[in-house]
Amino acid sequence: MVKAVFPGSFDPPTFGHLNIIERARTIFSEIHVVVAVNSEKRYLLSESERVALIKEMVKPWDNVFVHSWSNLIVEYAKQIEARVLIRGVRNLADFSYEFDLAMMNRGLNPEIETVFFSTDPQYFVLRSSAIKELASFGGDVSSMVPEPVALVLRQKFSGRSISTKNTKV
Ligand code: ADP
Repeated sequence: MVKAVFPGSFDPPTFGHLNIIERARTIFSEIHVVVAVNSEKRYLLSESERVALIKEMVKPWDNVFVHSWSNLIVEYAKQIEARVLIRGVRNLADFSYEFDLAMMNRGLNPEIETVFFSTDPQYFVLRSSAIKELASFGGDVSSMVPEPVALVLRQKFSGRSISTKNTKV
């Protein structure tokens, strides 16, 4: 009965994130998706939008829960007695970043293990930042994110002038 936390910005959540959750939920007893709220970062989607969208995406799965958190993720994991942090890895650049992050989190709490999930090849090009950029130019993101997310992205970018688009992504 090992609980796991899957932290991220999820700005926006994508089919890549969903794939990790779907795979992880069959291995761990509970998956707690934690939407990061970092006051230093600018997000396109608000905390409540990101939480609501992920809740909608994971609705069929009764062992997946969604929360937001503005503090250290290891603190959150400790609070809910989760032993594992899940992170996804698409390529070497991701691995390098994720490895440093895992070392830092291990330094903060050695009892919590980071487990890496390699991306499914189908989703390895999916990246929230690129999806936002594509959506900002009116591109079709329907194969990259679930329909409710695509709808929110369309609403966010509809009627925006080119000059404001680039500052928001
Ligand atoms: P963060 O700002 O914490 O990196 P993200 O929402 O970008 O938040 O990503 C959360 C986690 O999901 C990260 O570990 C990231 O590498 C992983 N991830 C994102 N997209 C994919 C994908 N397409 N395939 C596998 N893992 C992914």
